[in-house]
Amino acid sequence: MLLRGAVRRCPWCGGKGAFFSGWYKRDDRCHTCGLLWERKLEGFELGSMTVNVIATFGTMLVVMGVGVALSYPDVAVVPIFAVVVVIAVAMPIVIFPMTYSIWLGVDLFMRAPEPEELADAAAAVANPATNRSPLQP
Ligand SMILES: [Zn+2]
Repeated sequence: MLLRGAVRRCPWCGGKGAFFSGWYKRDDRCHTCGLLWERKLEGFELGSMTVNVIATFGTMLVVMGVGVALSYPDVAVVPIFAVVVVIAVAMPIVIFPMTYSIWLGVDLFMRAPEPEELADAAAAVANPATNRSPLQP
């Protein structure tokens, strides 16, 4: 499920594009299986933000480690710093959609969908007119 999420697919069904209608634009449900991406969980974005921070900081740490190892003993501080700054600014923006699908994979792994949730998803796929989140007014 994590690998499916990492390539921006639905972690549950593997549907291409999952719940995305643009790179940053999300619909409420997966276009293939109808699963809600928020899964009625308040604070879902906190999990995806955590995935984003872990991936970005992890990449920055690896780049710093590799940079120091390659240039040791005369450590190239300025070039390493420049690359790390670019990663710190660009990576969270670029990987933003994947953090949602990865976190949905984590959420689905920890809390498998209830039969009612799957029935609701199947009904939403069968009748796209009701394709709205129950969290919306
Ligand atoms: Zn799906």
